[in-house]
Amino acid sequence: MGSDVRTLRRGDRVGVPWLGHACGHCRWCDAQRENLCDAPLFTGHGRDGGFATHGVAEAAFCMLLDLPLDPVHCAPLMRAGLIGWRALRRAGTATDLGLFGFGAAAHLVAQVARHEGRRIYAFTTARPCKVLGPPRVGLRHVK
Ligand SMILES: [Zn+2]
Repeated sequence: MGSDVRTLRRGDRVGVPWLGHACGHCRWCDAQRENLCDAPLFTGHGRDGGFATHGVAEAAFCMLLDLPLDPVHCAPLMRAGLIGWRALRRAGTATDLGLFGFGAAAHLVAQVARHEGRRIYAFTTARPCKVLGPPRVGLRHVK
């Protein structure tokens, strides 16, 4: 671990998300929307790691996993889960959420939003029930 790291301790278990670096000074980073950074590095694409046994990660982009969670179950949260999480936080306290498309990110955010007691509307052209499984994640309406 680098000597400048102050947010983590040796031995901490962390998750390394898809977005592994943002420049910190472009218009998107300045607006705290680093997911849209002009010069990002992505874990497993532009930066080694991801599904590797070893990798290098920036501490600022590591997620401390201090709960006894199975890493296999945490792994999807480091990519699709973070996309949905950001969108959910930006929705504020809205009780009704619309999800456009229903891929991995929406599937995960729907579960969190439902747990928070929100109503979820999915807008997709795919048939909802068999492949995507909205009833299993608690979608109230599928348009
Ligand atoms: Zn940037």
